[in-house]
Amino acid sequence: MKITGVKTYVLQATLGEHGFGWSQRVTDRRQSAICVVDTDEGVQGVGEAFYFGGPAEAVAALIDDGLGPLVVGHDPFDTSVLWDRLYNLTRDQGQKGLTISAISAVDIALWDIKGKALGLPVYKLLGGAYRARARAYATGLYEPQGVPSIVAALVEEAVGYREAGFTGMKLKVGYGLETDESYVRAIREAIGDDIALMVDANHAYNASEAIRLARVLADYDVYWFEEPVIPEDIDGYMEVRAASDVLIAGGECEYTRYGFRQLIDCRAVDILQPDLCAAGGFTEVMKIIAMASAASIPVLPHVWGTNVGLAAALQLYAALPHFPERRFAAEPFFEYDRSHHPFRDGVTHEQLSFDSGYLEIPDRPGLGISLDVAYLQKFLA
Ligand code: CA
Repeated sequence: MKITGVKTYVLQATLGEHGFGWSQRVTDRRQSAICVVDTDEGVQGVGEAFYFGGPAEAVAALIDDGLGPLVVGHDPFDTSVLWDRLYNLTRDQGQKGLTISAISAVDIALWDIKGKALGLPVYKLLGGAYRARARAYATGLYEPQGVPSIVAALVEEAVGYREAGFTGMKLKVGYGLETDESYVRAIREAIGDDIALMVDANHAYNASEAIRLARVLADYDVYWFEEPVIPEDIDGYMEVRAASDVLIAGGECEYTRYGFRQLIDCRAVDILQPDLCAAGGFTEVMKIIAMASAASIPVLPHVWGTNVGLAAALQLYAALPHFPERRFAAEPFFEYDRSHHPFRDGVTHEQLSFDSGYLEIPDRPGLGISLDVAYLQKFLA
């Protein structure tokens, strides 16, 4: 089998009254870059690149003009060989960021091709499924715009997740310690003590601020504190982790085995969060998982994007080992973005199945999805 072409769809939609904010900015739109890889045998693979802050056109140009010509003519089954080729040929100015997101999308599409050609779900090719369904937590609780009371709106949203069956949810923080505590307190009181509550500062704080917040969070039984400090500040992560009774999570802004090596070697976090669609795709993230398993640092991948990225993340999640293996092993949480997204579900013919707090992991070939190309046309940027 030979790769014959690589093409990326750049999708965009505005959010209108559903615009949302977090510690860094307010957004009024959603964008996605969905990559399709074709082969001479008619098997087509699909992948998605994670990026935030866009423009998605930059990722699409990297995929179509930069990476596409480097893989056309090659065997899509040669995923490790092609990954190293793509990384090495972009290494001088690549290494992190959009270039690795672009490589991730291509790599995911190649694994989709392998699975579809063999009639096997990707998780089988990754070594098998540790689990058949994913315990999902709701990512949402962003800062709503144009509401009379932010706290009241957050509480209503949080109660909605509880009623939908979620056993965990994640709140954005990073607005200042007093505001953060007021949100955490209101939500904890509203949802009760038997639901896992996580918070995410999106690297809004320095280490001393984060330590002060971590001490407050412990009073509300917060499960983990995500991205307390900027991703470059490994020493800061270590200081916060040493001083915090709440678990420290991070890694969505880190890339490849080379980047994660430092986080793992320094034991900078309690929970590593590589994003499949950013950190290097299946080929690279499985290597990161292997490195993390040697240090017994749990990997709970960051997940964002459309049904393409979600379907790929579910395949990876199935193949996540336990950290460590034991008779009654801890089951990882799966990040399920519930914030407003006009085309998240429509891009694929197949829909995810959510019931009683769990997402089913599809056992169809590849990623278990097919693109609804006619639907995509409505959102082309
Ligand atoms: Ca995050």
